[in-house]
Parts: sequence; structure tokens; C-alpha cells
Amino acid sequence: MPPLLAAYSGNSEPVCPLAEPTLTTERIHGAGFDSLVNTKEELAAICQAIEAAGADALELRLGTFAFNEAQFINDVCFAGYGYDGTMSYGIAFDPKSNFQGILDSSHSGCGLIMGACRYVKQFVKIPVGGVVFMDPASAPDYFGQALNDDTLELIYVHRAVSNCDSEYANKLLENRIDGIRPCCRCLNCMGGPCRVNPTSAMGSIEAMPEGFEVPACDGSKKVMVIGGGPAGMEAARVCAECGYDVSLCEKSALGGLLDFAEMVKGKHESLSRLKNYLSHVLEVEGVNVVTGKEVDAAFAHEEKPDVVIVSTGSKRPGLAASGSSATPVIGVTDSLSAEIGNNMVAVLGFNAQTVDTAHYLTAQGKKVTIVSDEPEEAFGTGQSMMLDKFVEPVFLAAGGREQAEERRRWGSGAYTSFGVDITVPCDCVVDASNMVAGTSLADELSGDFDVVAVGDCPTPLNIQNAITTANLAARHC
Ligand code: SF4
Repeated sequence: MPPLLAAYSGNSEPVCPLAEPTLTTERIHGAGFDSLVNTKEELAAICQAIEAAGADALELRLGTFAFNEAQFINDVCFAGYGYDGTMSYGIAFDPKSNFQGILDSSHSGCGLIMGACRYVKQFVKIPVGGVVFMDPASAPDYFGQALNDDTLELIYVHRAVSNCDSEYANKLLENRIDGIRPCCRCLNCMGGPCRVNPTSAMGSIEAMPEGFEVPACDGSKKVMVIGGGPAGMEAARVCAECGYDVSLCEKSALGGLLDFAEMVKGKHESLSRLKNYLSHVLEVEGVNVVTGKEVDAAFAHEEKPDVVIVSTGSKRPGLAASGSSATPVIGVTDSLSAEIGNNMVAVLGFNAQTVDTAHYLTAQGKKVTIVSDEPEEAFGTGQSMMLDKFVEPVFLAAGGREQAEERRRWGSGAYTSFGVDITVPCDCVVDASNMVAGTSLADELSGDFDVVAVGDCPTPLNIQNAITTANLAARHC
């Protein structure tokens, strides 16, 4: 074994160097070694050199020139809901049309690098594997086929194991895919707690020293969870795993805003899998789930719970101005099903829901203006740090416009805070303004019960916050 690789391996361990080829896009294709970007032919030559130097296996990653964050291309590229320019510097939505055609975007970016593995395997004899969101649980047939047809020999699963579910491998082997807590590719973990598993975050260690395993109890508490969104389901799951007697009441169907979020964020975030996972675990843990039941104080008194966890979500305040028949104002969740026949849409707000909805509508061909009276730095509040870096330039590049610090006067015009008239042309207004706390039921019950409000109910923000606050409250209730 050559000295350099031997030094790393201690002469006995297998060596698997991290080959992070920065593949060129069509714009700079053929720039050569000096450009620090690699063609697929150069990638093959590099991998052959690494093999000749004594490597036992290869792990292929992906980056783009001078922009390390772009190793998450498979996540952020699909966050723009499918229009070109998502990466904000010219990379097409379908990565296969760049990168000399060796990437595979057939599964929303999951397993994107498999085509590159297939290509490299023609040139080396050592096992080849890839990372770049390899998640067999989200596409078992796709990955099974790739292993069977020798596309690759190794699958490196990172975030889905290290952050989301440390039992991932065992559950996959036992075909318990419904029980795998899915990675949503939201990139909240780049600077904050994991969206789906707050116990994996450094910041949670003090609050949750016991880790993912919840503390056992004597089983004597009766817990009523009100609200079946992600916060309510997570709270019920944790309480049930603590050993409490748990019921969950939801006035409509389980999932809360997860269905809406999946629509505007796109399928790549696997939010339907998250909903199915939480529903599945509630069933496994024996939680008494009652849907179609709106809880009031009288019902709570009948049930006599020891603890009430309220996760009924937030409220949206009324608009500062009303619409007209010519310029209707519609709610953000209604905007997905409403007939917005005309092209000009103003989306009100500056939060993550606003931005996601604006992206979604832009991808549907609407001309979107985001309008808010908040300062510029509030744009994308609640969005993960990584996605936030991409969404604003992408939105603007796609022809979207923002108008901040305005008073709203739909259909006729708007004023800046400095009193300058600005007209915002629009045929329709979508109200995605900031939500406010909706704790009236929690307040009403707090005189008679041990009550804790979680998620958007006290603090409207995002799915990550909903699950984190619910998990914490439930394990300490
Ligand atoms: S924060 Fe999001 S992307 Fe990161 S591991 Fe958790 S679910 Fe996956």
C-alpha cells in the first residue's frame, strides 16, 4: 500500500477515500484540470489514480465549482418546486441536462449520484458507492435494482441515519420501512436541530440528556393531546413511549398542515412519509386516536385527563384590507385549489409559508409579487438556513418580485412606509401573512388541568419547531 494511504489506514483498515468530484456544467464543460472542475472523463481518471494508490473502495460525492454548499444540489435543486435556475446560477432543474448526463434525477434527487457510480465502475475494479442523499427507504425498488444490476456496491446513508433514525439499518433489513423516521431533506440540520428528530441536535443534549429513548414512567398518567398535526402526533408518540395512557383528538384528519406543506414544498421533502410514520407509530404504541372530534372544555372535563397537551395550531389574523370581486383575497391553503385564472398574484407575508407558496405559484406559471410590511431581513423566516440561501435569488431570478415595507391597499396601489405611492398590479391576493398564537383553548383549560401548549399553537414557526417543542413537552410532562 502506498505510504500516504497506509498512514491513514494504519496499514490494516480498509481505505475509502472521499472522492468529491466537482463535475462541470455545460457552461464550463471542457475547462480542464486547471479550472478545478472535472469532466466525467477526468473523474474516471482521478478514480483510477485513487485505486492505483491503494484505495479499497470509492465514495463518490458531488459538488459544483467554488460552491461547496452545492453538494446539497439534490436537496436544494428540488426545493424550488421544479423550475430551471433553482440553483440560482443557471443549473437546470433536471440535473441530468447538466453534468454530461451522468446524474439521475428520476427520484426527486434521491440517489442522484447513481449514474456517476455506474459510469465510474467501468474504469475501476474496487467497489464504488455514492452519497448525495442515498435513502433506500424512500425508494426501495430503485435502490434494490441498482444493487442487483451492479450499478454500485455500496450505499452510504448519512443524515437519514445519523440524524433521523439510528435504527434505520435494522428497520430496513427487517422491512419495517413504515417505522423509519424519514429524513425530509429540509437541511434544518445545517445550523439547527433536525426537523424530525430533535434529540440528535447538539443543542438538545442538555434538554434531553436521555437521547432519543424517552424516560420511562409508571404509566399512571392519563394524557389528552388535542390537535393531530405534527406537534400533536409527536407529543402523543413520546407520551405513549413514556408509558402514559394517551388519547389524541383531532377535529378533522391527522396531519395538520403537512399535506399543504408537501404540496408547496414538493414531494422531495417526504412530508407524506413523515405523516405516515407518525400515524404508524401512534397505532403501534396504542394511542387512542379520535378524528372528527373538536374538543371543548366540557369534553375535557368528561375525560378527566391528568395532563392536556394542546397543539391546535396558530391563527391567521384578518387582513388589513379586504378584497373585491375584481381582486379577491384567498387563504393560503385555498390558493392550491382555487382557480387563479389570471397571472398576476400578490402573496402577502414574508415567512417560510409565504416563500414556499410563492415558489409553488411561480412554478405554476403565475407572476408573483411577495408583499410585506416587514423589514427585508425577515424574508423566509422559519425556512432552514441552507434553503433560505437559495430561495430568494431563485425566486427573483424566476421573475418574482418583492415589495417590503408597504401598507397594503390591494387592487389600487400601496404606500411605502415613507408615503410614496407604489402600485402592485395583481389579479388576486393570497394571504400567507404571519400566523399568531392560538392559545384560547389552552388558556380556558389551564384553570382546571395541567396544560401545556406546543408547536404553532403558542409559537407559530415551522415543522421543526413544532416537533421539537412537542417532544420536549411530552417527555417532561
Ligand atoms: S434536518 Fe432535515 S435534512 Fe437534516 S437530517 Fe433532519 S430531516 Fe434530514
